[in-house]
Parts: sequence; structure tokens; C-alpha cells
Amino acid sequence: MTANKGATDPSDQLILAGWLVDGTGGPVRSKVWIYIREGMVRSVDPKPPRDVLSGQGCDLSDFTLLPGLVDSHVHLTLSGTDDSVVRKSQLEAGYDRAATVIAAHLCQHRDCGVVAVRDGGDRSGHVLRFKTRPSQLLPVRVQSAGQAWRQSGRYGRLIGRSPKAGMTLAEAVAGDRPAPDHVKIVNSGLNSLTHFAKETAPQFSLEEMRAAVEAAAVRGLGVMVHANGRLPVAMAVAAGCRSVEHGFFMGPDNLARMADSLVIWVPTAVTMRAYARQLAPGSIEAQMARRNFDHQLEQMQMARRLGVRVALGTDAGSLGVDHGTALKEEMAIVMEAGWSLSEAVQSGSSVAAPLVGGGYSGTLAPGHAATFIAIKGPPEHLPGSLGRVGSVWVDGRRTLGGSGRVVG
Ligand SMILES: [Zn+2]
Repeated sequence: MTANKGATDPSDQLILAGWLVDGTGGPVRSKVWIYIREGMVRSVDPKPPRDVLSGQGCDLSDFTLLPGLVDSHVHLTLSGTDDSVVRKSQLEAGYDRAATVIAAHLCQHRDCGVVAVRDGGDRSGHVLRFKTRPSQLLPVRVQSAGQAWRQSGRYGRLIGRSPKAGMTLAEAVAGDRPAPDHVKIVNSGLNSLTHFAKETAPQFSLEEMRAAVEAAAVRGLGVMVHANGRLPVAMAVAAGCRSVEHGFFMGPDNLARMADSLVIWVPTAVTMRAYARQLAPGSIEAQMARRNFDHQLEQMQMARRLGVRVALGTDAGSLGVDHGTALKEEMAIVMEAGWSLSEAVQSGSSVAAPLVGGGYSGTLAPGHAATFIAIKGPPEHLPGSLGRVGSVWVDGRRTLGGSGRVVG
């Protein structure tokens, strides 16, 4: 392209996209021109805008463009390995060693088209320290809970801590320093791998949960709640949490309540598929993981019918769930549950974006940041082709990859 007198700006970019899935859940578009100025999308049209003849063009006509993806539930200090020695050392790592692991996991996310992750907590608060260290340039935006909150003696020791003796949950949330980006509360146990649909008791009372959500709101923080089973989930929703994590066996009443509220559900179904794959073939545990997965798939089908806002999250770091690649597995799972490709992308972008803050909208359309990924090939190859990320763009700047020749 040639420079145009007057009408251009040095930051102007014109991109020819082979296909566009814009994150709104609308239909896939093909052969569109995306005009970017100062990091923002200004127009998306079948023809290049007449008044723009800038010097920066990029032909991505062999690529499918999507908004940068969000993994709404990860644990950056842990990897999905089944090597018990490695898992133990990651759990016990001091800050310096943990920082190396966190950085590697963030690169894995970026290489799979993820631009932001929400961390669900680690037992030493390493992720929060990592992301707030001075002059930290992160390949992926990190939203950190610091350490999660759990009831003393209950599940959650590996990712958090309990309020100090004599202190309520709300007081603990109010006084937590350094300030996290959001609050994570563990309000149930894990799924049983021996008794199907066995429900664990809530860890906190409804009053405690409500007060904690209020204390978080005073600090401008949303609350993500780990909850499986009917009562733990019902309490999380009634307390006004921002998102329910896992939600296995929550039942139709909770799904209906979530559809009527602004609560987002992060099903993390890939965890149970990974368990079924990792555990000894034919074992009761592997069979139970499979049944848990199938039941979650049914709940997701119901959620779609009811209009529940479902965000993609993987619990990466859990056994067999690898950072980065797990997101395309979770995307494939929501499609198995009936989501169209556009809807699945929406779950991994505009639905999930409010969970990671920073003003990211997860929408690739006029008036929104030019934060997107280019995947080689047509949309029919998704989500499998998420492993073939050609380039990643954040606010109009290419941060990864050099695919796509300059046009003009
Ligand atoms: Zn988790």
C-alpha cells in the first residue's frame, strides 16, 4: 500500500482476514477488511475503507481471526504432569523456582492464543507476587486471587489458606494484603471418584459467604467460588458471587438461578476427561471420572437451553490438564454439548472477559481493542487448529508470530 496524504496515521493498519469469528456469538464472516487505528478496531467491512490507504497492511486471508482467548480458571504454579515428584516439588517451590514455572506456563498459554488467564490461587501467593513485581512484562495478562480461602481442616490446602483464628471470612477478605485482583473462596470438597454424585457439605455458612462477597465488593473485587453439589452452589449464587467454578452436580434449580442472574459458570469439564485418561484404565476411579464428565456434559446442555453464561476455564495445573492446550479441549467439549463454533468462541472471549478485568471486551468489532489471534486455516478446523496460532495481536501490536505477508 502507498502512503496517503493527510488521511493516515502512523498507527493505521489494514488487515485482510480470511474469516472472522468476532466473539459475539454471531455468524462467521469471510473475507473482511479490518481497519485499526491507535490499537482500536475502527471498521470491519467486506471492502477496504475508501479513505484509508495507510502504509501498514497485512494479508491474513489464509487465517481465521478470533478475539484473544481467555482461560478463566488456571493454577499457574502447577503443571498438568502426572509425575508425582514434579508435582510435589512445584507445590513446595520457593518463589524463584515458582516464577520460572509460572513464566513457562504463560508462554504455553500465549502459544495457544490465550491473551488473559484468571488464576484460582496457589498456597504461597507466588502468582500474585510474580505478576506485581516491578517492570514485569507478561506475555499474557494475569488476574490473580493470590491465595484462596478455605475452612480450616477442609479441602483447599494446596491452593490457599484459612482465615486466622478468631477472624471471620469477611474480615480476612477485607484485610488481605497485598491486594489480589479477585477473591477465591472454596465452598465444597472435590468430586468423589468412588461414589457417584456424592455431595460434600459447604465450607462456610450463607451469612459468612454473603459478608465475604460484600467485603470483596467494598474493595472492588469479584468473588470466584469453587463449588460442587446443590447446596454449596446455591449458597455461592445466593451470596452474589461473580462466578461458580466447576459446579458438578449442582442440579437444574441452580442452573435456572444462574440463568436469571449475572453469575457466570465455569464448568472445567476437561478436568474429568483428563482424570479418566490419566487414571488406571478400568479402575473405579477412571470410570467415575468418566461418569462425572458425562453428567457435566448434560448439565452444560441444560445450561445452554436455559441461557446460562458459560465461560471457558480449564483448571490447568490439575492432573492431566496442561496449560494452553487444555483450552482447545474445553472448547471442543462445549461444542460437544451443543454450542456452535461462534458460541464456543464467545464463551472463551466476550463471556469470559469480564472475569479478567483490564477493560478487555473479548470482542473483535468496531470500537473494541484490536486484541486478536490469527489461526491458520478455515474455521471448520477449529478448535483443533488452535494449536496452529499464526500470530497474536494485543491492542494492535503483533506480540507473537510473523505470519501474513504485507499487502499493497
Ligand atoms: Zn482450580
